[in-house]
Amino acid sequence: MNLPFTEPFKIKMVENIYRSTKEQRQNWLRDASYNLFNLRSEQVFIDLLTDSGTGAMSDKQWSAMMLGDESYAGASSYYKLKEAIRDITGFDFFLPTHQGRAAENVLFSVLVKEGDLVPGNSHFDTTKGHIEFRKAKAVDCTIDEASNTTVWHPFKGNVDLVKLEDVLINNPAEKISCIIITITNNSAGGQPVSMSNLRETGKLARKYGVKFIIDSARFAENAYFIKMREKGYADKDIRDIAREMFSYADGMTMSSKKDAIVNMGGFIGFRDEELFRQASTYNIIYEGFITYGGMSGRDMNALAQGLYEGTEFSFLESRINQVAYLGSKMKESGVPILEPTGGHAIFIDAKKFLPEIPKEEFPAQTLANEIYIEGGIRGVEIGALMADRDPVTRENRFPDLEMVRLAIPRRVYTNNHMDYVAAAVNNVFERRSNINRGVRIVWEAPIMRHFTIILEVAK
Ligand SMILES: *Cc1c(COP(=O)(O)O)cnc(C)c1O
Repeated sequence: MNLPFTEPFKIKMVENIYRSTKEQRQNWLRDASYNLFNLRSEQVFIDLLTDSGTGAMSDKQWSAMMLGDESYAGASSYYKLKEAIRDITGFDFFLPTHQGRAAENVLFSVLVKEGDLVPGNSHFDTTKGHIEFRKAKAVDCTIDEASNTTVWHPFKGNVDLVKLEDVLINNPAEKISCIIITITNNSAGGQPVSMSNLRETGKLARKYGVKFIIDSARFAENAYFIKMREKGYADKDIRDIAREMFSYADGMTMSSKKDAIVNMGGFIGFRDEELFRQASTYNIIYEGFITYGGMSGRDMNALAQGLYEGTEFSFLESRINQVAYLGSKMKESGVPILEPTGGHAIFIDAKKFLPEIPKEEFPAQTLANEIYIEGGIRGVEIGALMADRDPVTRENRFPDLEMVRLAIPRRVYTNNHMDYVAAAVNNVFERRSNINRGVRIVWEAPIMRHFTIILEVAK
């Protein structure tokens, strides 16, 4: 008998969590204006809001923190991180930032001008926010299969190379800030991008003289899927696959809070020294001097260690299989989820789950709230609220996919927690015909509204 995979770690410290009653949760949700971001964490039993910065650090990471060098300039922690980044990504130049969106802010200050286009696969919400804030346009060229939640495709996060080339042919190179490919494609369900797709994107970028940037928050999970699914990679090491992925790009932005398993941090990687120099000025203005840029020395130490732990095959195998385990439990009860399951989260298809709730009443937010009431589980809406309004017409945007994401923090929950989550979602599924009122907006911010939105139950 083949031995099954298992977590390649044991637990050294625990944090108790509080199991509330349904009535308490109904009151808390009303007080939170039906926006799950407004809850206190103590009001949540299992927190699947995000896998960002919520992972458990290892004993090696904690001990690395004690060795942090807090020098303003030239800290040893900076050089340690520089070495780890060069080793794992192949980029010779880097700038630390306090998180991923700060990396976007610094890099886009150099690359993105008013009226520009930024084509790629689906842009993450902060990426799109930073593009639209500069009055440029993010052009989503993801393959059509990505918007069908049930069709099986091994690399559903791929960019459609024909759509991408169309944008490059029909616009002068100076109007294209850069191409951005997000791995894994978070907005399309944590779906991977194939090596051949990255290679071909790199070729198009060079052919049309535009820069190619990889939004890399979940690059290790992407490398795992390439190893498992793409011909020729089964015997390759995750880190070799990662280096090849990055070899096709001119740079990367990184939210270290994801695949590098730290609670805070980010960076930009560059191949070209000139672009690094230009970005350095903005890094100093927005983040801090170029050898710490928004991070303390101890945090850079933990990140350097986390980059290695996050690219261990045995860790990735247990993580991605835990996500798949939750997905298979939900499927058994008939819950409509996005398939195949992605790297970091289960995405529930809210349009299919709650077909009676009109899109104007935000079915995914409605469902996320019901799942919270049922089991104290906090997910997040990835749908029309998150899609914001069109910057020109100010009309609501209704994306093809209207989903609730249950993101799994790294090394935090056991499969018993996954069973609990699946049971709670199943209970909501069984009483779905009694859910017939959605939510309406009382107040919203002009951009990235979902974080702070105030909602009420629709009349
Ligand atoms: C999280 C994330 C970001 C932004 O990073 P933060 O660390 O949250 O600022 C950007 N892109 C992708 C794909 C992400 O998942």
